[in-house]
Amino acid sequence: MKIITLANLIDGKLAAPASGVYLDVFEPATGMVYARCPDSDSRDVEAAVAAAARAAPAWAALSASERARHLHRLADAVETRLDELAREESRDNGKPVKLARSVDIPRAVSNLRFFAEAITQWPGESHVDARAINITLRQPLGTVGCISPWNLPLYLFTWKIAPALAAGNTVVAKPSEITPFTAFRLSELAIECGLPAGVLNIVHGLGPKVGQTIVEHPGIKAVSFTGSTRTGAFIAESAAKQFKKVSLEMGGKNPAIVFADADLSDANLDTIVRSGFSNQGEICLCGSRLLVERSIYGDFRQRYLAKVKALRVGDPDDEASDLGALVSKPHFEKVMGCIARAQKEDGKILTGGNAVKLEGRCADGWFIAPTLIEGLPQDCATNREEIFGPVVTLIPFDSEDQAIAIANSTDYGLAASLWTRELARAHRVAERIDFGIVWVNCWMLRDLRTPFGGVKHSGMGREGGVDALRFFTEPKNVCIAR
Ligand code: NAD
Repeated sequence: MKIITLANLIDGKLAAPASGVYLDVFEPATGMVYARCPDSDSRDVEAAVAAAARAAPAWAALSASERARHLHRLADAVETRLDELAREESRDNGKPVKLARSVDIPRAVSNLRFFAEAITQWPGESHVDARAINITLRQPLGTVGCISPWNLPLYLFTWKIAPALAAGNTVVAKPSEITPFTAFRLSELAIECGLPAGVLNIVHGLGPKVGQTIVEHPGIKAVSFTGSTRTGAFIAESAAKQFKKVSLEMGGKNPAIVFADADLSDANLDTIVRSGFSNQGEICLCGSRLLVERSIYGDFRQRYLAKVKALRVGDPDDEASDLGALVSKPHFEKVMGCIARAQKEDGKILTGGNAVKLEGRCADGWFIAPTLIEGLPQDCATNREEIFGPVVTLIPFDSEDQAIAIANSTDYGLAASLWTRELARAHRVAERIDFGIVWVNCWMLRDLRTPFGGVKHSGMGREGGVDALRFFTEPKNVCIAR
């Protein structure tokens, strides 16, 4: 098999890393190396920051609608290649191609289009009294850093880049070294679309080398990061030394809370199953703790279990696969270790718990069966720590207060879903649980205008809508005497 060599995007050109060294990129479904990505270092980051600094004044001076036109052009290019990019995303990450085609790549297109439109519609602010008119200028920061993870590669990469560019900043971005492929393809498309040189720079490589240099570089004025809480804490600490703005989207241990009065139609049950196992459970928003009111626990478990057992783990290329491969061998081993730990904690495995051995081209892939565990206390490690795999725990509860207490009993606070027919209860519980996002009778229903992010160890700051545009600009008060 021919190994594909990826390149950085620096100053409008594809560039090999200064070191000449590359990292292996694996196809999770086969366990084989299929590409190599630049193992960049501070020299590449330096060149990218310099190019971004040169491009910044002209990019900031464009009108909002001119910048929007560039973003729309890039969105068109991604949309035209939707199928191809979906196949590439699936090969790089291990996710089923049907998911990449229906969620990841369309969302990347929406991100670019949404912020293209948002910047042209963003109202200004002024405050008037008898003495003066105060105008709030919202100026771009200059050059910003965007660092993204491997689970929704192009989706989250564009979610950061689009508002940063729309607001008039130039960008130095680093995709995950584990899934660099579609970011590389975006580099090619940016060149093809005529995005001015230096406006978007993409530097591939390892977090502690490339990511850290971006965070610490004095030319980078703000850092938008999505990834693990451990890395987020490190970034917050490094950025604080230079008083840099940071936006951190981190891990989760999300509850799905099912009350006895919930409408448990087949469609809703499917959504609850999806909320646990979509993308092999590798979505920060997945509900990995399923809290069910005791009076319906037995019936619910039976119906839910049947649906989980029916999920098909298979070749991501196969349209019939519901779950593909886990993203990497270390992550596969981590998740298998979490399952073993749950058993040591006396958890009872109701289904799954094992690696799945496929035949043919996927014989050496990293597949795990969707796993459902019950009988664990709320305060055990399995119920407190993020696993980020196809593993859900079932937890019964007896009252609304108890459900809230269990939901809140982790250090994380990203997203929760509630299932109830009682509107007053939905309001009450939504107000009392410590999560940045609460879905009622739905899951992962996203409106890009809403503030997105978590509390506690799940996040700092909000992305989406005007929150993202605010993050990527500096407000300046201009007071004009009357
Ligand atoms: P990670 O923290 O290992 O890596 C994320 C990115 O940070 C990668 O690009 C990595 O190279 C880079 N990085 C690593 N060390 C760095 C350092 N010292 N300085 C700067 N950058 C560094 O996370 P991951 O394993 O790629 O992603 C999985 C995690 O992401 C999970 O915890 C998941 O919950 C979280 N996540 C959160 C959200 C959200 O919106 N809250 C969305 C998706 C994923």
